[in-house]
Amino acid sequence: MHAKIKAAVFGTQSYDRNFLEQANRAHRFQISYFEASLNPSTCKLAHQFDVVCVFVNDELSRAVIEELWQHGTKLIALRCSGFNNVDLKAAEAIGMKVCRVPAYSPAAVAEHAVALMLALNRKIYRSHNRVRESNFSLEGLLGFSMEGLTAGIVGTGAIGRNVIRILQGFGMKVVAHDPFPNEDCRKMGVQYVDLNELYAQSDIISLHLPLARETYHLIGKEAIGQMKTGVMLINTSRGALIDTREVIRGLKSGRIGYLGLDVYEEEGDLFFQDLSNTVIQDDVFARLLTFPNVVISAHQAFFTREALTVIAETTLKNIADFFNGGIDSRCLVTLEHVK
Ligand code: NAD
Repeated sequence: MHAKIKAAVFGTQSYDRNFLEQANRAHRFQISYFEASLNPSTCKLAHQFDVVCVFVNDELSRAVIEELWQHGTKLIALRCSGFNNVDLKAAEAIGMKVCRVPAYSPAAVAEHAVALMLALNRKIYRSHNRVRESNFSLEGLLGFSMEGLTAGIVGTGAIGRNVIRILQGFGMKVVAHDPFPNEDCRKMGVQYVDLNELYAQSDIISLHLPLARETYHLIGKEAIGQMKTGVMLINTSRGALIDTREVIRGLKSGRIGYLGLDVYEEEGDLFFQDLSNTVIQDDVFARLLTFPNVVISAHQAFFTREALTVIAETTLKNIADFFNGGIDSRCLVTLEHVK
């Protein structure tokens, strides 16, 4: 039905291809898969494609968007929910449409955030390594009971609400901050507080808000200074919500007792590739890896069968809707979203 529509998929991994091919049986788009990320030097690969399909670390700067437009691309289809990597002003100025997958599996990301909490608290990564070497000592593995402690959730959208549901199941008290408080959360007993109060009260802080100009380096020197000594900080949202250098200072001083990351502000040069035979050039990231109380996963919180199915199906449905006259407003990304 859409056999003439050509889509260029950037940053393709084997799983992207598998799930998109499966979903494309219903559409029959002509899809070309590129391993490279989209950026000014790879943009020429997209010439004459009607659609580019991109992910979190592709670069949709003004220069890239204008070049795409000049060479026939009419739609940027994000196969993720965040859109901080797209210059929306540039897109709107020339009429390029941008769409995304607004919620593919909020439970998947929430479950991963909680997995990071449990791994850090009970030091699963350390005990696993010890047991493999027949070291059955418990020294240094002491954890704490989460029941009765306070979790601070920044951002109570789809993912934040799932984290709250799980943590309340553990018997935690939950405080939250969001410029648009959610009635369901209030009904669940969540108390909305200012950020400084959230920092002061929380034993565990988990970030579930988008990256935007106002939220860039939200967690910096001032915020860390207001947190409880030994706080656990979890970020599964976007790396640049955290000023990594300040967080390293916080870890060295002991103010931050545990750090769980699924995202990193300079992850574009690292994540989604096997660099095990190369020398990591990023000294800040390398320093993070040296702490015994830091766990990092490489942007995998979304990575479940269920989420990949929804991502592939919604992405291709967005493309079909665009060519049939209109994308679902929940999937369309406009400047309104960043106001
Ligand atoms: P959502 O849009 O449903 O919720 C975001 C919430 O953040 C909204 O309620 C919004 O009001 C709130 N918010 C906005 N600005 C805020 C601020 N300054 N302070 C506090 N709250 C603020 O989004 P979601 O689906 O819950 O996703 C949250 C984030 O998770 C996304 O922006 C994305 O960056 C990230 N994400 C990561 C992965 C991963 O694999 N690691 C996967 C999906 C999404």
